[in-house]
Amino acid sequence: MRVIVGHYVGGTNGGNLSEDVIHKNNYAPVPGAGEGGRPVQLSQRELITARELYSLHSYNILVSDKISINRSLPDMRSDRCKEVVFDLDNLPTATVIIVFHNEAWSTLMRTVMSVLMRSPTQLLQQIILVDDASDRRYLFQELDEAIEKLDRVQLLRNPERTGLVGARLLGAKKATGDVLVFLDAHCEVTPGWLEPLLDRAGSDDVFICPHIDLLSEDTLAYTKSIDAHWGAFSWRLHFRWLIPGGDVLRKKSENPSKPYPTPAMAGGLFAVRKSLFWRLGGYDEGMTIWGAENLELSWRAWQCGARVEITSCSRVGHIFRRHSPYKYPGGVTKVLHANLARAATVWMDEWADFFFKFNPDVATIRDQQTVADRVELRKNLKCKSFAWYLSNVWPQHFFPTDQRWFGRIKSEKGGCIGVNPGTLGLGSPAVAVECITQMGLESLVVFTPEGKIMTDEGLCLQQGNGRALWKSCSDSSKQIWIQKGPRLKTQEGLCLTLVVNKDSHGVGDPLTSKKCLTDDKQIWHFNRVPWR
Ligand code: UDP
Ligand code: MN
Repeated sequence: MRVIVGHYVGGTNGGNLSEDVIHKNNYAPVPGAGEGGRPVQLSQRELITARELYSLHSYNILVSDKISINRSLPDMRSDRCKEVVFDLDNLPTATVIIVFHNEAWSTLMRTVMSVLMRSPTQLLQQIILVDDASDRRYLFQELDEAIEKLDRVQLLRNPERTGLVGARLLGAKKATGDVLVFLDAHCEVTPGWLEPLLDRAGSDDVFICPHIDLLSEDTLAYTKSIDAHWGAFSWRLHFRWLIPGGDVLRKKSENPSKPYPTPAMAGGLFAVRKSLFWRLGGYDEGMTIWGAENLELSWRAWQCGARVEITSCSRVGHIFRRHSPYKYPGGVTKVLHANLARAATVWMDEWADFFFKFNPDVATIRDQQTVADRVELRKNLKCKSFAWYLSNVWPQHFFPTDQRWFGRIKSEKGGCIGVNPGTLGLGSPAVAVECITQMGLESLVVFTPEGKIMTDEGLCLQQGNGRALWKSCSDSSKQIWIQKGPRLKTQEGLCLTLVVNKDSHGVGDPLTSKKCLTDDKQIWHFNRVPWR
């Protein structure tokens, strides 16, 4: 579920709130609130309280406490998905594993109840909750008592906080179902969610993810997320939702109920046959607390002969948060970087060098990681290379390769082609950025043999009506730039031009394409930079 924009900050975890507020369960359902997945609106006064409590969970706990843990949700499936008939007698059984650390009582219980209410009894072997050493008092005896009353739900306690990897492994070791289904502790499943997952996971070579919809962090309204998405990652290895490649989109529109491949999974929600999970090495136990385990698992799956897919027929809502509310020992950056360093070292080959070269902070802790057992696993499983992964699983990727030029394209007038730091850039007019000579990624671009100028985040320089823009990389011919000596020409033969303002040295000035002239605003210097 990583949607990290800029720096991901660890939470204050309650900050100045009183002990009583932090440790009390205030669940008090209001009849009708949030039913049908509708938003809950608060009064002005409640909004103030909600804001004060926000840091506890990074979602609106006041709203969650008003919504019944049994609330109704609409059927979110498309008609094509509803038509599919499953033979329940021939589907494998599921163990649903939900790990949590200091989750809100109402949110956690709503996740559990939604699974109990909307899973066919014969398919649901058990639900295993794993408490990752929470310290909130409402999660002690009060939770024990609530869980005892529920059929087929058991609660395990992690004696020490390990993070989600350790907690999920604890749950997985106790699972008696055929298929492991992992969910975060702030999810709600909708009708028909389980059957498509089990149907596909039965095949023993795939990690299958549901289509993840949105539970609003403010109102807990259930809304559909964008129809065609898949998971990938940026140059800094931040998880990203992107539009799938054209071929996948085409197949998906031909047959919307068929699962489709994804380069990476978001991490929180997926199903996998238990035997496959263990055969491929479970999780990397060296990863602590949170982060990067989703990429590690996705690379391992693809490179070691399995697949990662999404089925849009299984619809599960998840609360996406902007901040992580937990305490991170040593800080969120340190934890995340260590996990990223492990994943990159084991799986990314030359691209690990790219990652470390341009993320010097992470490089400093590279050698501290002991990954010998994971490297051994990769060898024993005879896994394929990262080069294979990029060209076969994610051919639309925007990483440098040996066939792709990488470096700075600098205007004769000053300024480089790039995306301004701090902006995501998508759809924005392109302007020249400062040519950062250190390792800053902002003024670095990939220039592909077919003529695309790509930057991080999958943006390509595209000639718009008038100005050049940063757009999602696509098959559009407006994204093709042909290098003719020091000039970059569009397919119509126009030249990429920096519209220079006086005194600006080029930085911040717009890019456009114009009739080619003997004009130094159309002169570009190509400074190649080794990417590994
Ligand atoms: N989690 C955990 N221990 C931790 C951190 C997270 O058990 O130290 C759980 C958390 O309660 C949640 C799941 O792991 O159920 C995924 O974490 P989170 O939802 O914060 O990740 P996100 O969805 O924001 O990526
Ligand atoms: Mn989550």
